[in-house]
Parts: sequence; structure tokens; C-alpha cells
Amino acid sequence: MTLLDKTHNPHLRSWVESANVAGCDFPIQNLPFGRFRRTGGSDAALRIGVAIGDQVLDLRAAGLVDHDDMNALMAAAPAERVALRQRLSDGLAQGSTQQAAWAAALVPQSACELAVPCKVGDYTDFYTGIHHATTIGSLFRPDQPLMPNYKWVPIGYHGRASSIVPSGTTFKRPSGQTKAPDASEPSFGPCKRLDYELELGFYVGPGNALGQPVGIDDAEAHLFGVGLFNDWSARDLQAWEYQPLGPFLAKNFASTVSPWIVTMEALAPFRAPFTRPEGDPQPLPYLDGAANRAHGQLDIVLEVLIQTPKMRADGQPPARLTLGRAKEAAYWTAAQLVAHHTVNGCNLQPGDLLGSGTLSGPTPDAAGSLMELTLGGKKPIQLPNGEQRTFLQDGDTLVLRGWCERDGAVRIGLGEASGTVMA
Ligand code: CA
Repeated sequence: MTLLDKTHNPHLRSWVESANVAGCDFPIQNLPFGRFRRTGGSDAALRIGVAIGDQVLDLRAAGLVDHDDMNALMAAAPAERVALRQRLSDGLAQGSTQQAAWAAALVPQSACELAVPCKVGDYTDFYTGIHHATTIGSLFRPDQPLMPNYKWVPIGYHGRASSIVPSGTTFKRPSGQTKAPDASEPSFGPCKRLDYELELGFYVGPGNALGQPVGIDDAEAHLFGVGLFNDWSARDLQAWEYQPLGPFLAKNFASTVSPWIVTMEALAPFRAPFTRPEGDPQPLPYLDGAANRAHGQLDIVLEVLIQTPKMRADGQPPARLTLGRAKEAAYWTAAQLVAHHTVNGCNLQPGDLLGSGTLSGPTPDAAGSLMELTLGGKKPIQLPNGEQRTFLQDGDTLVLRGWCERDGAVRIGLGEASGTVMA
């Protein structure tokens, strides 16, 4: 794990004034990476940018890189990443001699199209949210909500990278096969139980060679950072198709990511111990390490909001569905996911995405999916304007937000991942 250094100094201020506004997601202590192009431009190539306040610093225009290949940047060794973060922090700090030159390399975020932050070659979705796994399991198996392997193996499956879309993208309600419990045969049609899943996405930095597992103590050196991830889910398609090989078309029609990758370095002040509840098995040795125990968890606040078409028409802001903390939801840490994913020799590559699984907290108001909030669609939720929802309706916009805050550190945000379902 990265140690605190002068880039985390809470007294640092930027000459980009919008970065100094209290509550801003992108103060100078954050410096997340993404890919952007100017809107109205054309099909110009995506460039690497760093969010600062309400601006994007164009890294090539600022002379910090000589290419536009985010994955190449992510592949760099942690020491190079730390050095780049240091240069960014120095150059964007008040009093920097770079101000005049770099001011010309700023683009307002409002004038940018923000893309998926890197080329995602492979995407794996885990299932680390134990409260989610328990609640969903109890809907199907009241006697044994958690499968016997859950507390031993970080459960996951290989997803599809091609349908990962950036925040702000609309997508069509998927159609597919479903079968009602009392029907003798399946039918084909639009999904009727469309849901979201509140997840974090961990982006791989330097990869590992095929056949070379990554040890738990080295695992975080292979992670570049974290973003928000909405794993849209068609529950009725899922229920019919998932046995025996797991999720397929219920999951691969769209997955929304936030545009900025908050680096592991930026998250250094917001770590928490990894512990197991009394009576639970301790991780096997390859999933256990001193650093992981001391600060393997990420203390990130996560929020989900919904805006229905009626709310939009009436000028009402999105309403909160969920508020929780990642560290209270995740049974496995990001380092454990890397160690487990590679323990058989599987090679991860720069830009690969590891989904955390739905991060539902221990209380009902921290549930990270409608499946949980509505008890499988049996109990509709009430929205502030009187509308009800069991599952998502056409025109609904879902927004994920995330941020970190604690005494003695400047709050940093992950930005947001929003998406809208269309008929
Ligand atoms: Ca998922």
C-alpha cells in the first residue's frame, strides 16, 4: 500500500480555484485519470486527462506524456505512477511555476466527452458483498442463504468487456427468454425485472505473466485504481438462464462505469483494516497477509439515486435509494481478488476490470440493488413524489456516487456513474 506523502497534505491548494471548493470531488489531493475528447470536435482520438476541480488537465498538452495510451500509462510500475502523481501535484499547486503553461492545457469538464477510462480487455465480476449474497441467497434458499464455499473462495465469473459503457450512456431494455414459476414453457419479450447493482470496479495496472501468480503482499502493486460500476441486471432473464453455468445475457447488455479512475495512491488516507467476524474461517494463507489485515479495506461511501421521467419533468432532483460504506459490505479485499484471480496462473493485463460484486451494507437502507430493496419485487419502494418502484421502468436514470472522507484528510470523490434505460 502507498504511504502518505506530501501529495496528501490537507493544506495543499490548487491554482485551479474550483478544486478548492469544499465538497468538490476532485481536489488536488485526488488527481484521478480518465480519457476525454472535446465535445463538438469530431471523432478526434481520446486523450489522457486528470480531473482537477471542474476542469480536465490534458496530460499531453501539459508535456507529462507523449502518447494517448491510457493502458500504457496504467502498465507503469507503481514508482513511476507515484512520480507522475508528484509532478501533477507540484504543477497544480498554488505558487507553481507551471501555472502559465498548464493553464493552457485545461479543458472544462463541461466541454468534454468522458469515455470509459481505459481499454478494458477483460472483465471479471466478483461477489464480495456478503450481505447481498445472503439476502439474494435467502430469496432462493431460505435454509442455506450462503453456499458453503462463500467464506473460503472469492466467488466470481468472467463477464463481457465490450458492453461496458461510460457514464451518461442510455441503453435499451434487453429482451430475452424468461419463464414464470407457474409457466410450463419460457416466453420471449422485454425484461420485466430490470435492476441495478452498486459495485466498485478495480482497474488492473501492471499485469502478470501467464503462469505467474501474484502474491497477496504484491497484489496492490498490480492495481491502478478504482471507479464506480453499475452492473445492470435483468433478474427475470437471470433466473431462467443462470444454471448451470452462471450469469450470461442477464448481465452483458450494458455495464456503466464512472469516467475517472481514482488511484490507489489517492486512496491511501482512506484505508481500513480487514477483519473476519468472530466464528468465521480465516482466509487460506494465499489470501492472508499482514498489510491486507492492517489496511486491506477501502473506506468509500457509496450512494445510489434514481430520477424517474416524472421527477425529471417536474424538475425534481434524483432521490436517494441507498447509502452505505464499501468496507462494511465487502467480505474480500481488492488485494485478495487479485491474489485469488491469479493463483492458478491466470494473467491479468493493464486495464482489466475486476467488479467487486454488489456492495450492500448490513442494514436495509444500504442495499445495493432493487432485488434486495423490494424483497425480490414483493414490496415496492416509495419515492418522495409518491411514485413506486419494484424494478426499473423505461426512462429511469440511475446514478451511483462515491466519496471518501475522514478527519485530517481532504474529502475526495469518485464522481458518478449514471445511466438511463430506454424502451
Ligand atoms: Ca454483479
